[in-house]
Amino acid sequence: MRILVVEDEEKLANVVARSLKEEGFAVDIAADGAHGLELATSYAYEAIILDIMLPELGGAIVLDGIRQKNRNVPIIMLTAKDAVGDKVTYLDAGADDYLTKPFSFEELLVRIRALLRRAPSQREDVIRIADLEIDRLAHQVKRAGKRIELSAKEYALLEYLSLNAGRVLSRTMIIERVWDESFEALTNIVDVYIRQLRGKIDEGHENKLIKTVRGVGYVLNHEEAA
Ligand code: CA
Repeated sequence: MRILVVEDEEKLANVVARSLKEEGFAVDIAADGAHGLELATSYAYEAIILDIMLPELGGAIVLDGIRQKNRNVPIIMLTAKDAVGDKVTYLDAGADDYLTKPFSFEELLVRIRALLRRAPSQREDVIRIADLEIDRLAHQVKRAGKRIELSAKEYALLEYLSLNAGRVLSRTMIIERVWDESFEALTNIVDVYIRQLRGKIDEGHENKLIKTVRGVGYVLNHEEAA
């Protein structure tokens, strides 16, 4: 679980980072908005803690920049201001939560855990990746407008891959999330299901969405291979 802290107040950033590390998170710190945006759009974070008053780029611009690239990552804004209007503005702009300084670390941790529990699964009812469309309410899948019938497990696997599109998922991660258990002896079950899913999702399409990352796992990605 990797978390990005974008905060120019060095002391606060360090305290938050240290406390998060004690809780078992991996933490990166960016001390200005430009670096924060760069990191946020370059790496897969499980959550981002974003200060509003930042040098280089302000928090609102960073928030907007992140959301243009990544609609799912949970973002908590830190604000020194207690104006209701600001909070509404940031929530409207795509932040998931906010904390007014000064805050206790316990409170921050509670908010982070709450966001991690519900993210990213609740954000989008319909996931669209290239010409693949997944209706998460109806559990219906279409590719290029054509309906695809999937078994419950195939659907769960595709949904997990899609929610983490662009991120390489190991067989163990997939087993733990899709099968809700860790049966290490059975990691080839993932390969079997991936093969089935490919047959239904990618066969007959030039743009293959499900990719194998040799020795690591699988990634659902719509970017054309170079
Ligand atoms: Ca600040």
